[in-house]
Amino acid sequence: MAIDSDKDRVLIFDTTLRDGEQAPGYSMTREEKLQVARALVELRVDVIEAGFPASSRSDWESVQTIGREVHGPIICAMARCLREDIVLAAEALQDADRARLQVFVPSSSIHLQYKMRMAEAEIIRRAVEGICIAREFCEDVQFGLEDASRTHCEFLAQIAERAIEAGASTINLADTVGYAVPEEFSDLFRYLRKNVRGIDKVRLAAHCHNDLGMAVANSLAAVSGGARHIECTINGIGERAGNCSLEEVVMALRTRAEFFNVCTGIDPTHLYATSYLVANVTGVPIPRNKAVVGENAFSHESGIHQHAVLQHPSTYEILRPEDIGRPHSNLVLGKHSGRHALRERVKKLGFELDEFALNRVFKTFKTLAEGKKELSDSDIEALVVSENHSRVEGLRE
Ligand code: MN
Repeated sequence: MAIDSDKDRVLIFDTTLRDGEQAPGYSMTREEKLQVARALVELRVDVIEAGFPASSRSDWESVQTIGREVHGPIICAMARCLREDIVLAAEALQDADRARLQVFVPSSSIHLQYKMRMAEAEIIRRAVEGICIAREFCEDVQFGLEDASRTHCEFLAQIAERAIEAGASTINLADTVGYAVPEEFSDLFRYLRKNVRGIDKVRLAAHCHNDLGMAVANSLAAVSGGARHIECTINGIGERAGNCSLEEVVMALRTRAEFFNVCTGIDPTHLYATSYLVANVTGVPIPRNKAVVGENAFSHESGIHQHAVLQHPSTYEILRPEDIGRPHSNLVLGKHSGRHALRERVKKLGFELDEFALNRVFKTFKTLAEGKKELSDSDIEALVVSENHSRVEGLRE
């Protein structure tokens, strides 16, 4: 896909295979992960986070397989700021064309006090050490701040500055618990851009969770604040309520490009297929009303909406199904549908009916639709066939 060079590029970092897979009920085998990784290549994500090698042997192996066999995007592995974690991650990534290590520390006082039992100065020391170790193995080191959204901004600025000095080239602010609100999160990025020495040399990233349903909104706000890297997952899968949904954030940036004035490298015509692939391999269906990829995302049942969409799709559709690689807009025929929609469907099914026959079919259709929730193509076909049949019978009489 052509990239609009006038616009700043926002990198899309997919963590379906790490944060997504880590959520209960979303386990994938190595083979399945490889399949998803290949779909992510088609989609043209910039970075694939393949796993957390220190967490298990199978994670280590999956990262290695993806590093060996998947070409195009940067392949990233996550590690705590501990030498043994980093060594495992680096080894797993050994065969990747382009490797990245993401090392992280928590930064909020809640995490420092209760989880780490460490003072701010100690956590800075550990972060710098971790980044330096990671740099021994890899040029491309991303530094993640866990629970950044609940961290006071002076400390964030301080640790970010030290991370840049130590050689991190991406600074990732995580809204680990989905606590941020858009305006505040946007301001946090602005604050860092203003108050951290060397910030212009690095890329700022956002990693948002959906606990209050704001992961996409917060990620977009981060972009407004200067982030140029969004971490997201297919179908928004991930810990608890999930992560920022890739398909939603990408289509928001694209549909409202004149507002955000940025672009991504994503080829959205692969969104639909990738979304259904992830649903298939995880066995977790996509909610019917899911934005962008849900079954109802392009469905219109009310007669007024259907009539207008048939006149011009832009009346009720801001996205075109073909933009995301979905074949057709789905006009569901039900009791709220009008004659226009029925005529259109009949035509699409390859029948021709004159006005008289159409009116009769419409009448039967309405009666049937009252009792049944919605009518499928084969129901409509049956209606038309029986109408034609009864007319032939009528002529014989
Ligand atoms: Mn996460």
